Amino acid sequence: MQEKGILLVLSGPSGAGKGTICKYLLAHNPSLKYSISATTRAPRTGELNGQSYHFVSKDTFQEMIAQDELLEHAEVYGNYYGTPKNYVQKLLDENLDVILEIDPQGAMQIKNKFPEAVFVLILPPSLTELSDRIYKRGTDTAEVIRHRLSKAVSELKFCASKYDYLVINDEVNKASDKILAIITSEKCRVGRNMPVVEEIICNNN
Ligand code: 5GP
Repeated sequence: MQEKGILLVLSGPSGAGKGTICKYLLAHNPSLKYSISATTRAPRTGELNGQSYHFVSKDTFQEMIAQDELLEHAEVYGNYYGTPKNYVQKLLDENLDVILEIDPQGAMQIKNKFPEAVFVLILPPSLTELSDRIYKRGTDTAEVIRHRLSKAVSELKFCASKYDYLVINDEVNKASDKILAIITSEKCRVGRNMPVVEEIICNNN
């Protein structure tokens, strides 16, 4: 019997290392696929359209909302981000596991639509470490960094308890291996495997 795919939602503050963790996960688990979001923000150096994001205009994004093409969407730091519905549904229908790397507002929308999805919060070992990482990245001004840190704290207060797992990213390999272990454990949940149990019962009647 073919295992059903898992929808894995990863969130965490900017600088928590979600991007690097995603790369590791995709390289180490061939059944995992990454959902490429649509966004209205401008591409950063090295980001390719259709690979990092689908970069779209505000009008196109509004049209996607109007046409019900997004599974969830949210405004983050003045830009819009959303998860294309058809692509994710197609992957899940193929029994593949799908990663959504999205913010907590979007994660809570997914929780309403897909209660069986798995929600993982990725955090750095401390706020000091987080601010060091964002400074070193060199892409944001001091003002933006302060804003991101205070947003990270208020989001934690509001949403941490709504996630299923917490993974501290002190070392990318260790943190990513924990997430791979979470996927393996989730696949063994009885609730996800009732058809297997029923098949065994049926074959013995
Ligand atoms: P960045 O612009 O740094 O790539 O992403 C900024 C924030 O937007 C991150 O917290 C990221 O997780 C979130 N994000 C990226 N794609 C999506 C999406 O499709 N939906 C939502 N709700 N958030 C997203």
